[in-house]
Amino acid sequence: MSALIIDGKAAAAELREEVTREVALLEEAPGLATLLVGDDPASEIYVRNKRRLCVKAGMRDLHRHLPAEISQVELAEIIDELNADPAVTGILLQLPLPKHLDAVDLLARIDPDKDVDGLTETSAGRLASGVTGLRPCTPAGVMRLLDRAGVPLAGANAVVVGRSNLVGRPQAQLLLQRDATVTICHRYTRDLPVICRRADVLIAAAGVRHLIGRDAIKPGATVIDVGIHRTETGLCGDVDTAAVLDVAGAITPVPGGVGPMTIAMLLWNTVEAARLRTAA
Ligand code: NAD
Repeated sequence: MSALIIDGKAAAAELREEVTREVALLEEAPGLATLLVGDDPASEIYVRNKRRLCVKAGMRDLHRHLPAEISQVELAEIIDELNADPAVTGILLQLPLPKHLDAVDLLARIDPDKDVDGLTETSAGRLASGVTGLRPCTPAGVMRLLDRAGVPLAGANAVVVGRSNLVGRPQAQLLLQRDATVTICHRYTRDLPVICRRADVLIAAAGVRHLIGRDAIKPGATVIDVGIHRTETGLCGDVDTAAVLDVAGAITPVPGGVGPMTIAMLLWNTVEAARLRTAA
């Protein structure tokens, strides 16, 4: 039997509608400040999409496009200004930054209560200790997809391939919080397929095209493919989808799986930041 295809586009559209309804309930529309430094074409497209969907959901677009040659001090001052501005609910610093800028230092400057990307150390600490906070968008989007597909997590064996701060680590924390038994694999892991084959829920976030083949899938497993790779024939992921389709129970496609959820979660986080501020 062929695996159920988990439809990330439909899930993202539903989540954006939910965000639009939530925004309408707030006294004041949240404001999202996206910071784009320089003219990297891929980053420009990402930021344009984020801004478009932010406005569509009824939020205010407080975008700043900054010159590539801006200094560390000048950018830090802009972040401080946005931190202090009550009209700004969420701040997103689009990465990568030009080489002369220190992204770690600048991210650390963002007020954790406005950290809608969930990437500051404080947000990571809040997640690790299981307290309220803003969660990184991609792994949070994966959790939404799993819930929408009705995948049981308590007691399930979950294997996360990848341990980046952006995806793998927060993904593992989120699964742990939902009582899954979590294994994290990385580039030094031995016998990767053997470990993956134990997974009821397998999350592939290694950034290696077709790393996960048929030999890594337990029959009936739910497979979430976070990887994105551009090829001559279009986008593909970390999973060799065609090879695993008749073994897996459910799988996210690339494109149309995890990708669309990431921006929708950013919008969700902006509403969440507004709500947390009101509650504080
Ligand atoms: P990264 O390079 O920062 O981290 C990759 C991780 O995978 C590392 O922890 C590394 O140890 C591990 N790894 C590398 N090779 C491995 C191997 N052979 N076996 C096991 N583990 C291995 O990447 P990232 O930022 O976490 O992104 C991972 C992938 O997800 C990329 O393809 C990226 O484009 C994609 N991504 C997609 C979205 C989305 O919205 N869909 C968002 C973020 C990242």
